[in-house]
Amino acid sequence: MPVLKCPICGGDMEVPDDALPGELFEHEECGAQLELEVDENGEMRLKQAEEVSEDWGE
Ligand SMILES: [Zn+2]
Repeated sequence: MPVLKCPICGGDMEVPDDALPGELFEHEECGAQLELEVDENGEMRLKQAEEVSEDWGE
């Protein structure tokens, strides 16, 4: 399981092996919504997700 850095608080964040690019995670330590990115080298990193993607199913 890869451990990535949270761009918001700099803390460690475990990401499941089967995580997909664009998948959203909440970092429990700081509450940030993070989006997984994978670059052309296959390197995974996290960026802050947009806050507007909540889907309440209304
Ligand atoms: Zn964090």
